[in-house]
Amino acid sequence: MPELKNCKRCGKLFNYVGGNAICNTCRHEEEAEFQRIKKYLMENPGASIYQVASELDIRIDKIKKYLRDGRLEIIGDEGLPVLLCERCGKAIKTGKFCDECSRNMSAEFSKTASKIEEKLRLENGHSQAGSIGMRYLLKDDRRNRR
Ligand SMILES: [Zn+2]
Ligand SMILES: [Zn+2]
Repeated sequence: MPELKNCKRCGKLFNYVGGNAICNTCRHEEEAEFQRIKKYLMENPGASIYQVASELDIRIDKIKKYLRDGRLEIIGDEGLPVLLCERCGKAIKTGKFCDECSRNMSAEFSKTASKIEEKLRLENGHSQAGSIGMRYLLKDDRRNRR
């Protein structure tokens, strides 16, 4: 059953079907906005987040959200620490954690995951392997970089 929810972005009631609590209109607007950012970055490789924000009139925290979501990546050199690793505070270019922390965490995570799997196996008497998966983000083009 679809559930009525208020859109996180515009506050309108809509049929919530799961995922992000935003309505279809806003979803499309966000997608269009993301495409504008992408296009701008293709035309102006290496533009700073501040440049993008003022040229396209998009709030910086929204651009940061795309970075956090791993949809955008800061290219070029260690500029301003726009994004910080949520674990150690180091400046990062995309996502939530620096490479080192993600590595450490996925190591910890697979340890925990195999413990859970083992527990499930013991409890259920059969293998639950495969029920806990991880997905790696494929970082796309660095083509713009030399
Ligand atoms: Zn909305
Ligand atoms: Zn870190």
